[in-house]
Amino acid sequence: MSALYGTYARSELAFVRGEGMRLFTEDGTAYLDFAAGIAVNALGYGDRHVTEALKAQADKVWHTSNIFIIPEQEKLARRLTEITFADKVFFTNSGAEALECAIKTARRYFWDKGEKERVDIIGFSGSFHGRTTATIAAAGNPTYTEGFGPMPGYKHTKPGDLAAVEALIDDKTAAILIEPVQGEGGVTAFSDSFLKGLRTLCDKHGLLLIFDEVQCGYGRTGKFNAYEWSGVIPDIMTVAKAIGAGFPLGACLATEEVAKAMVPGTHGSTYGGNPLACAVGNAVLDRILEPGFLDHVDEVGKVLAHELQQLMQKFPQYVTEVRGRGLIAGIKITPPVRDFVQRLREHKLLTVAASDNVLRLLPPLIASEDDVKEAVRIIAEAFAELEAQTASAAQ
Ligand code: PLP
Repeated sequence: MSALYGTYARSELAFVRGEGMRLFTEDGTAYLDFAAGIAVNALGYGDRHVTEALKAQADKVWHTSNIFIIPEQEKLARRLTEITFADKVFFTNSGAEALECAIKTARRYFWDKGEKERVDIIGFSGSFHGRTTATIAAAGNPTYTEGFGPMPGYKHTKPGDLAAVEALIDDKTAAILIEPVQGEGGVTAFSDSFLKGLRTLCDKHGLLLIFDEVQCGYGRTGKFNAYEWSGVIPDIMTVAKAIGAGFPLGACLATEEVAKAMVPGTHGSTYGGNPLACAVGNAVLDRILEPGFLDHVDEVGKVLAHELQQLMQKFPQYVTEVRGRGLIAGIKITPPVRDFVQRLREHKLLTVAASDNVLRLLPPLIASEDDVKEAVRIIAEAFAELEAQTASAAQ
């Protein structure tokens, strides 16, 4: 009997080692990893450059405090402002904390301007922004909010309907919050026109636009920022997961204009952006910004989309839709997705379930074309096995 909270329906698997695209159990069994710790392990396992950076920093100093200058943090922040729209960065330990900072920044921006009643955040069904009380409220999914008390200050509507969004805007609205590609909600990449429409609404009503790129950003779509596909620039953006490639790190990024209300005393974090985390963050960024890295993600992402289309043609009874962008991909399937994820584990392939019965594929960004073809071949084998079992059960 585990002494842990029972908050996860955990699999029986325990991995003790990783190498490249593969994870290994104690007995040496290898699993091809198309889950990447849920979009975290962007560089797979055992990246030398990152491991060396972690070890080197561990020998120097692990932690000081944000009451002192942390050179690695200054450096990572400066680099992030060079490759995003942002001028200012606040580092956190997780995605949810990055969202907390984004929500506080938006509200404080209006408070500072004397518009103290502007606190409401408009979000979308199918969103996921983390598990803190503010972030479950921001996503508004009853599965996650039920039993956790009242959480005023958030409104929700269906994505895709600009008129419905505008109908929610009033003189208490502060910001619109959206993932450009929804991950947990079912791997939905929103159209450029919808995202542009949200920017227009924000400009028209004087609101802030917040992009949550915790899952879809940091190279996963084949561009560093997912927003680059639409050209829509947010005022605030959250990143996490791939930023530390397995080391707990997140960040909230904002324009100078918006961040200037976050003065001393308004926010803080004991660990956020500590020397160890930022040494890793800088090394991860070195790798992601290597020439050709993002082009590789784009190319392999296209191969994955093509292979999944072929899979849908081969098994139309099982695959009804192919979704995603780059290496955040999903297929909407007819068999119960959690059972199918388990079946794939039996075939030594790791994937993740998403809402809307979507099988999510989030390989490390170093995945090769051969890795993608192997993963899709395993999925095809599992469908063929299911087909044979269904046919024999019907006899
Ligand atoms: N935002 C998005 C889009 C996410 O996918 C997640 C986690 O899956 C979060 C926020 C929360 O991140 P964390 O679990 O690091 O708090």
